[in-house]
Amino acid sequence: MEKLKQHIKNLPKADVHSHLHLAGSQKRFIERYPSANLNFPVKYDGLAGMINFIHNHLNTIMLTDKDVVNFMEIAIESAIDDNVTLLEASVDIGLARFFNNSIDPIIEAVKNLKEKYKSQINFKPDIGVNKDLDLEKVYSDGVRCLESGVFNGIDLYGQEANQDLKPFVKFYDIARDLGVKTKVHIGEFSNHLSIEDAIKTLNPQEIQHGIRAIDSKNTMDLIVKNNIRLNLCPTSNLLLGAVDHLENHPLLKLIDHGIKITVNTDDLILFNTNISEEFIKLLDANLFSLKDLEVIRTNAFD
Ligand SMILES: [Zn+2]
Repeated sequence: MEKLKQHIKNLPKADVHSHLHLAGSQKRFIERYPSANLNFPVKYDGLAGMINFIHNHLNTIMLTDKDVVNFMEIAIESAIDDNVTLLEASVDIGLARFFNNSIDPIIEAVKNLKEKYKSQINFKPDIGVNKDLDLEKVYSDGVRCLESGVFNGIDLYGQEANQDLKPFVKFYDIARDLGVKTKVHIGEFSNHLSIEDAIKTLNPQEIQHGIRAIDSKNTMDLIVKNNIRLNLCPTSNLLLGAVDHLENHPLLKLIDHGIKITVNTDDLILFNTNISEEFIKLLDANLFSLKDLEVIRTNAFD
């Protein structure tokens, strides 16, 4: 097993579903903030429980613009620790609140991080938009990020059920016009119909999670027809209660339906896992052979 673990660790890997300022490993975090004294939960009470932990604990440590950059650096270093050679991680544009409500210093910081780590990792930042953000900011700060040329993708997240996605259509159109990759979070805690709605409304290239697609053949067919890749995060699903046991994770059923999937970390700092550990867990649960994992690993580089 040790030999297998080392083999997986040594393989070049990609993480394409990650939220940058929450993507540092707990180990790196404690090294950088030794007096932080955080007790990380082993399980969260759904999305609300996770947001609670971020607000009441993490946000008491991430207080300044420098902390935000620190958190991002920790994330990139944690990816390098695991031999992740491609990191697509979203930078939440709401973080402008730490930079005198200006987006430009964030764009500059992200540009500097790309440069700083370029010999070690291909860091491709996504523009992260929470649906709670003022629409005005989406179209001012978000478009400024798009036009900066620093970002490679966009991603939309936050509450999933009963959300009107139409206000974001133009943002997705602008991204497409600029040749920027389009992703959207949907179908982790919302039903298969919400996935169909997101596909029809935003026409994304990739879906973050999308696991509830297994409840409908029609939804899975739509995903295949549109050639949409699902960027899954098994441990995140488990710790947030979207899936009860790893053995019951929908990923096999999705693959069997012909859907292209990848395996990712979501928020390292919260879920205390990395890509190698995700692969090991899937092997341990007898969900995959090493050969299957090779397909999943290489999918993420497409
Ligand atoms: Zn996510």
